[in-house]
Amino acid sequence: KVKAGGRNDISVFTTELTTSMQGRLEMQAILRKAFREKWFVLYFQPQYDLVTRRLTGFEALLRLKHPERGVVSPTEFIPVAEETGLIEPIGEWILKESCRAASLWPEHLTLAVNLSPAQFKKGNLPRLIAKTLKQTALKADRLEVEITEGLLLETSNRVLSQLREIKKMGVALIMDDFGTGYSSLSYLWRFSFDGIKIDRSFVHGVGVGGQVEKLLRSIIRLGISLDLKVTAEGVESAQQAHFLVANDCRNVQGFLFGWPVPKDEVATVIAKDIRVGTRAAQNRHDAT
Ligand code: C2E
Ligand code: MG
Ligand code: MG
Ligand code: MG
Repeated sequence: KVKAGGRNDISVFTTELTTSMQGRLEMQAILRKAFREKWFVLYFQPQYDLVTRRLTGFEALLRLKHPERGVVSPTEFIPVAEETGLIEPIGEWILKESCRAASLWPEHLTLAVNLSPAQFKKGNLPRLIAKTLKQTALKADRLEVEITEGLLLETSNRVLSQLREIKKMGVALIMDDFGTGYSSLSYLWRFSFDGIKIDRSFVHGVGVGGQVEKLLRSIIRLGISLDLKVTAEGVESAQQAHFLVANDCRNVQGFLFGWPVPKDEVATVIAKDIRVGTRAAQNRHDAT
């Protein structure tokens, strides 16, 4: 059955539907309709600093709410959207919608937006981002763009120059799902990333035994020594969180801290954090 929009395993589509030709065609039709009918919704997942225990920002995550089929996961429809070029209008909508939302949050909170390789095809992405920031009055240093190394595999000058332009505006460049690709390491310095998001497969290795913990520790050290913002994604247990903070990975995101929530619930997450902050300040005051 379909559950809340936050989880990964929410889709009601069968594998066959997305892998077979007929399934892809059907998905294409659904995407076109979804865009027209405004079935796309953005969810926002909170990110926290384990040292200060405070909220630092949110990652925008796309959902498709089909009136009959329920919530469809982006892992199922993003590839089809990329194939058909639909990712362009959808991506533009994601940027505008998420920046507009973030412009209403307290100034210290950041917004992370996932970019698809297909959005770099035309070459107008830097201009689109600049325009959106201006329209929504969101400061560039509050925006982080997340890309996976799939984009960088075809390291054309076109991609390179766009990444440079985006960085020049003051937008932070984050490598998503770090550690899962083939050449993440060389890309890190060639494209001068500002941060890495360690893939949850490493995080989930905590307490499992074997080599994964050593690998995770090494990835954190590597990120820190390169002066990168190091974030762990998919943190689900207190044990994982303890391991991360003990190994100096202070930025976290995951179900343990908060599920992706619709725009309307973001205010509640922020209010809760402000209460925590006020209490912390009060405790410090009482202690002195
Ligand atoms: P991602 O950018 O790596 O996003 C993190 C995914 O992990 C999200 O899945 C999120 O819901 C899920 N997640 C968060 N915390 C936990 C946890 O504690 N445990 C587990 N098991 N999972 C957790 P989601 O929303 O289904 O998105 C999947 C992927 O789809 C994203 O991976 C991203 O690559 C892509 N995607 C999502 N939204 C967008 C978008 O707006 N644009 C583009 N181009 N891609 C998007
Ligand atoms: Mg991401
Ligand atoms: Mg990721
Ligand atoms: Mg991912």
